[in-house]
Amino acid sequence: MMIDLESDIRELREVFNSGKTKESSWRIKQLHGLLRILEDREDDICKALKQDLGKHHVESYRDEIGTSVKSVNNALDNLKQWMAPQKKLGLTPDLVPWSNRPTQMKVVQEYSSKRIRLPIAAFPSRASLVPEPLGVVLIISSWNFPIGLSLEPLIGALAAGNAVVLKPSELAPMCSSLLAETIRDYLDNTAVKVMEGGSDLGERLLRYKFDKIFFTGSAHVGRLVMSAAAQHLTPVTLELGGKCPAVVDSFSSSRDNNIAAKRIVWGKFGLCAGQACIGIDYILTEKKYLPNLVESLKRYIKQCYGDDPNGSLSISKIVNKKHFSRLTNLLDDPVVKSSVVYGGSCDEESLFIEPTILVDPPLDAAIMTEEIFGPLLPVITLESIEDSVNFIKARPNPLALYAFTKNENLQKRLVSETSSGTLMFNEAILQYAVDTLPFGGVGGSGFGRYHGKFSFDNFSHEKAVIMRGFFIDIWFRYPPWTDRKLQL
Ligand code: NAD
Repeated sequence: MMIDLESDIRELREVFNSGKTKESSWRIKQLHGLLRILEDREDDICKALKQDLGKHHVESYRDEIGTSVKSVNNALDNLKQWMAPQKKLGLTPDLVPWSNRPTQMKVVQEYSSKRIRLPIAAFPSRASLVPEPLGVVLIISSWNFPIGLSLEPLIGALAAGNAVVLKPSELAPMCSSLLAETIRDYLDNTAVKVMEGGSDLGERLLRYKFDKIFFTGSAHVGRLVMSAAAQHLTPVTLELGGKCPAVVDSFSSSRDNNIAAKRIVWGKFGLCAGQACIGIDYILTEKKYLPNLVESLKRYIKQCYGDDPNGSLSISKIVNKKHFSRLTNLLDDPVVKSSVVYGGSCDEESLFIEPTILVDPPLDAAIMTEEIFGPLLPVITLESIEDSVNFIKARPNPLALYAFTKNENLQKRLVSETSSGTLMFNEAILQYAVDTLPFGGVGGSGFGRYHGKFSFDNFSHEKAVIMRGFFIDIWFRYPPWTDRKLQL
């Protein structure tokens, strides 16, 4: 059935213009609706995730339901504070450098958490920052966390008081139809509409004017989104991917080495079988650390997925045949194949790819130039662990950079010399669950940030409001210009 975009988007615009979505009671009701979906329909969500991606209930709860429940509760707990205008006491004229020549006036507007300093020319006045919703926003999401990556931005959009079109990915069809059904039933469907379809629907949607487009997906489609948005001067957030490296040092304590190896195995294979934008893409380590590192990785892969991982319920499947072939093609190159030191088996029928470790595949092979997005883990050896800094700098900015090291000099160099959406030491993935830090990319991994208050801000315009009084009015600001005024 062809969706009537014209009338649906018109309805959303009318509802937004009515002011209904701006009411805090409406926002709270929608957030409670989301919470009820997550609670009432937990089993259905897990079933849909199992069918689309082979995710285990534990993984589904952890990555998609639990994180969303946390985010809705965080929005509910803080909404009042987020919505409140930041009252900036303006009766504090700026008395900093002030010249008697109007052309040299320094208008210093500085805001801190406490106050805005206004130029003395504006005295007396008060100012505040008032967050307002943007309008009708479009959220396009990807298939790998089809529930979580749809709901996380939706929470921010609703908390900020917008009307929303959500287009989930067609590659997770059970989740897409469950989102459509539950959001229709639990939320205000005059103001929140889920539109189901693939790239053709995405392209049709992009012809309309939205007030914000929040896109999660590939850089290729991100470019299309951005150029379509430019026609309407619509701001965009692009949550893209890329290759996320993990720098792995050696620790003096075997306990630390073991924990690092476990976290790496989890950060690579433990989320949707490596089909995760912040999953570890490849490892950089020093040559002499390689034997121990590979042995530890093998040990923990076996511990997590057993001797026959194809039978394991703890690892997701590859989403579809196209992505399965994309991944197996990465291994087709004979030189790449010969670099496999563990795993490598693939079963097209069950869309299973074994957790696989490769050592030093050629750096110009596709596995090292394209985002892997699957359970293949190249380990690249370097003469010195410090060489990892230049290795990373020579490549596009990752969405996430991980470094397992206690070497303070290396830590400092990674912080100051490399650029990435997030930099995390001695852990992987957990940044996604931290509401108090922004989540997003930089450079090729995208731009714009969200999660927690950052999501609210992403879908709001912070309007500067200044209230002036009539108490003082300076005569020399008005023409006619005279020599006398020049002397002042
Ligand atoms: P994709 O770009 O193929 O699709 C993303 C969404 O865009 C889907 O809903 C799809 O239907 C839609 N789409 C496809 N073609 C379109 C078009 N021409 N016009 C409008 N919409 C269109 O990406 P994907 O395969 O779903 O996701 C994989 C990529 O997403 C990876 O690169 C991954 O790293 C990235 N990703 C990033 C994040 C993040 O938070 N930064 C999260 C998950 C995935």
